[in-house]
Amino acid sequence: MDRNQQLFEQAKTIIPGGVNSPVRAFGSVGGIPRFIKKAQGAYVWDENESRYIDYVGSWGPAIVGHAHPEVVEAVSHAAENGLSFGAPTENEIRIAEAIRHIMPSMEQIRLVSSGTEATMSAIRLARGFTKRDNIIKFEGCYHGHSDSLLVKAGSGLLTFGHPSSAGVPEDFSRHTLVLPYNDIEALEQTFASKGDSIACVIVEPIAGNMNMIPATSEFVQAMRRLTDQYGSVLIYDEVMTGFRVALGGAQSIHGIKPDLTTIGKIIGGGMPVAAFGGRADIMSCVSPLGPVYQAGTLSGNPVCVAAGLKTLEIIQRPDFYNTLSARTLELSKGLAGIAEEANIPFTSRSIGGMFGFYFTAELPTCFSDMQRCNQVLFKEFFHAMLARGVAFAPSAYESCFVSAAHNSEIIADTLGLAAESMTEIAR
Ligand code: PLP
Repeated sequence: MDRNQQLFEQAKTIIPGGVNSPVRAFGSVGGIPRFIKKAQGAYVWDENESRYIDYVGSWGPAIVGHAHPEVVEAVSHAAENGLSFGAPTENEIRIAEAIRHIMPSMEQIRLVSSGTEATMSAIRLARGFTKRDNIIKFEGCYHGHSDSLLVKAGSGLLTFGHPSSAGVPEDFSRHTLVLPYNDIEALEQTFASKGDSIACVIVEPIAGNMNMIPATSEFVQAMRRLTDQYGSVLIYDEVMTGFRVALGGAQSIHGIKPDLTTIGKIIGGGMPVAAFGGRADIMSCVSPLGPVYQAGTLSGNPVCVAAGLKTLEIIQRPDFYNTLSARTLELSKGLAGIAEEANIPFTSRSIGGMFGFYFTAELPTCFSDMQRCNQVLFKEFFHAMLARGVAFAPSAYESCFVSAAHNSEIIADTLGLAAESMTEIAR
C-alpha cells in the first residue's frame, strides 16, 4: 500500500467516506484520492511525492496559482495581528469597495464564509424582500448544500422539485421549482402560471457544475425580462464564475445587471470568504438594518480577507485576463485537436480561465445533454492523465480551471501528455 492508500484507509475510519466533501472521494471515477501535501504555482504534490499539473485549483479559488508569494505574505502579516476579532475591520470596507469596483451591480455587500452561506442568505433575502415563498432554479445548477437548493428536477415542466438529499423535508423542497437550463419556453410558462408567487430566480449564468455550459444570451435576457415583469429577484450565482470567466464575471459578458449576486472562491484567494450583494434597496432588508436575519462568527475574518484583497489586486493587473484566457483556449482547443486525431468523439469550450471538455461530438447545452456524454471514456482519460501527472477534477460533471501560473510550457506539457493518454484510451 502506498501512502495515499494508507491515509485513505485511516481517514475512512474516522471521517465519513474518508473525505470532508464528497466529490473528493473519487466516487465517480474510482480509485484512491490523492492526499495533497503541498501546492505551489500550477502544481500540487501528493503524499507519495508525486507531482501533478493541477486543473482543479482548489475547485476554483487558485486563479493566481497556489501559494502565490504576495498572497502568502499578506496572510502572514494579517495573522501576526490576530486571527479573528468578531468586530468590524477596515479591510472589510476595502474588499467590499474592490468588489463593487469590479462588479458595480453589487451596490451593498455582506461578507460570509462559504458559497453555500452566500446563496442561502440571498434566497432568504429575496423571500423576505418580495414576501413570496417559491423560487426557481435550473436542473444541473449547484448553489451549495442548503435545504431549499438541494433539489433537482423532476423531468416534467412545472413539477415541484423533490429533495435530492435525505434529510430535506418535502415541505421545504415544494417551494423550489426546477426547470431545464436554457429553456425559455419552460421559464415563460412557469411565470405565466405562477409568476406572482415567485420570490426569485437563481442561476449559474455560466453553469460550472454540470461541466461548463453557458446560458444563451436569449435565455439570460428572458430571465431578466420575466423577473422584472413579475417583480421577482434575479440572483446570479457567480461563486464559480465571478473573477473567473472575466474580471467582472458572467454579468460583464452578458451585459445583464442582476438584482443580487453571490460570489466566493476567488474572493478568498484560497481562504474561506464569500459574499452576497446587490441592489441597495434589497440589501437594506438585511439585519441589522432590516428584518432578514443573517450573521456569522467568522464573517469577514481578517486573515481570510487579507488573502482575498491581495488576490483581487493581482487579478486587476494589466493583461491578467488576456493571458489567462489565451492559455485556457490553447489548452481547450489543443485537447479537441488531439482527440480528433485519435478519432474520439470529443468537444471542448473555454471562457476566461474556465474550461470544459466532453466526450461527445456535440457541445452540450443542458443537463440532459451532459448525461449523454461517454462516462467510460472520461474515466479512462482522467486516470491516464493522473498516472502521467495531470490532475483534472474527478468527475465528468465538473469544470476545470487554469491559473496565471500555468505558463505556455506547462500547457504544452499537458497537451503532450494528453496526446499519449488519448492514444491509450482510443485502443
Ligand atoms: N454556488 C456555486 C456556483 C458553486 O460552484 C459552489 C461550490 O462549488 C457553491 C455555490 C457553494 O460554495 P461552497 O462550496 O463554498 O459552499
